[in-house]
Amino acid sequence: MSKYWSPLVSELQPYVPGEQPKMANLVKLNTNENPFGPSPKVIEAIQKELNDNLRLYPDPEGQALKEAIADYHVDFAINAKQVFVGNGSDEVLAHIFQGLLKHDKPILFPDITYSFYPVYCGLYQIESTVIPLTDSFEINPEDYKRPNGGIIFPNPNAPTGRYLGLQHVEEILQANPDSVVVVDEAYVDFGGDTAIRLVNQYPNLLVCQTLSKARSLAGLRVGFAVGNEELIEALNRVKDSFNSYPLDRLALAGAVAAFEDKQWFEDSCSGVIRERKRVTEELEQRGFEVLPSKANFVFARHPGHEGAEIAAKLREQGIIVRHFNKPRISDFLRITIGTSDQNNALIKGLDSLQ
Ligand code: PMP
Repeated sequence: MSKYWSPLVSELQPYVPGEQPKMANLVKLNTNENPFGPSPKVIEAIQKELNDNLRLYPDPEGQALKEAIADYHVDFAINAKQVFVGNGSDEVLAHIFQGLLKHDKPILFPDITYSFYPVYCGLYQIESTVIPLTDSFEINPEDYKRPNGGIIFPNPNAPTGRYLGLQHVEEILQANPDSVVVVDEAYVDFGGDTAIRLVNQYPNLLVCQTLSKARSLAGLRVGFAVGNEELIEALNRVKDSFNSYPLDRLALAGAVAAFEDKQWFEDSCSGVIRERKRVTEELEQRGFEVLPSKANFVFARHPGHEGAEIAAKLREQGIIVRHFNKPRISDFLRITIGTSDQNNALIKGLDSLQ
C-alpha cells in the first residue's frame, strides 16, 4: 500500500500466474503449455518477418490474421469482421470484461473457474455472482437462467477440465437473449466441439480462443474472439482506446502460419489426447480419482494423500504440478499432459509416494 496509489489499485487482488522456473531440467507440468512445440512453418514465418520487416509498425488491425482465422472456420461461414485479435486471450478477455460485461446487474461465472475472471471484475469494478459447480464439478445450465449482466465460463472449464456439451451451451444462450454469453475455449481443441459453429445463430455469443495451448505458442501471446459483428465492434472500440498495436509483427506472422499448418495442429492435439488417456489410466491404477477431461491437463485427487503433500513430494523430484489452495479443490492437483517422457517421470514420481 502506498499513499501514491489510487484507491482502486490499493484494493486490487492481482492474478498470480503459475510458476515459470529458471531451471531447464525440471519436468514442468504446471501451466498447461503444449510439450510438442509449434509448427516449423511458424518458426520459418517469424524468422522471415524478423529478417525483413522489424523496422516497420505492424498492421494495427491484424487483418491478415483475422482473415486466416475466418478462412480456418470457413465451414461455419465466419468472415474477418467477426474476428477480434489480441495479445493473448487474457488481453482479449480484459477487453471483453471492459466492453461487453459491464451492466447494471451482476455477471455470472462458476465458483471454480479461471481465476482471472474475478480479477477483471475487481479491475473494471464489475459486480459478479459466482455459481457453484455441481457435485460432479459440472456447469449446470439451469443455474444460468437468472437476471444477469453477462455470463462467462471456460469450456472445457479450468481447472476441472470438464466439458459442457454444445446443446447445453445453447440452452444458456437461449435463456439469455439480452446478455452476452462468453465461452472461453482456451482448451477446446483437445476433444471438445467449438461453439464458433453457433456464432451465426446467436448474436449474444462470443467465443474466445488462444494459440497458447493447442498451437503451442504461449510465448507468442496471441488470442482471438469470434462473434457477431456488433460484439466485435465493441472490442475494437476498447482496443483502439487502449493500444493501437496489440500484436507485433512476429506474433502476426507466426499466428497466420499456425492457422495454415493444419496437419501439425491436428497431430499435436491427437498426441496430447493419446497421452491424456494413458496418464488418466496410470493415475486411476494408483488410486487417484480423475475428472473426465477434454483439456490438455487432468484434475485429480487421491483419497490417501493431500494435494499439497503430493505436489511438494513431486517437486522434490523435480516435477512441478499445480495445486490450488482454494475451497472445494484443495485436495486436487492439476497436471498438464506432457511428452511421453515427462509423463513417465510423473508416474515414476507418484510411485515413490505409495
Ligand atoms: N482462458 C483460460 C481458461 C485459461 O486457462 C488461460 C490460460 N491461463 C487463458 C484463458 C489465457 O491464455 P492466453 O492468455 O495464453 O491466451
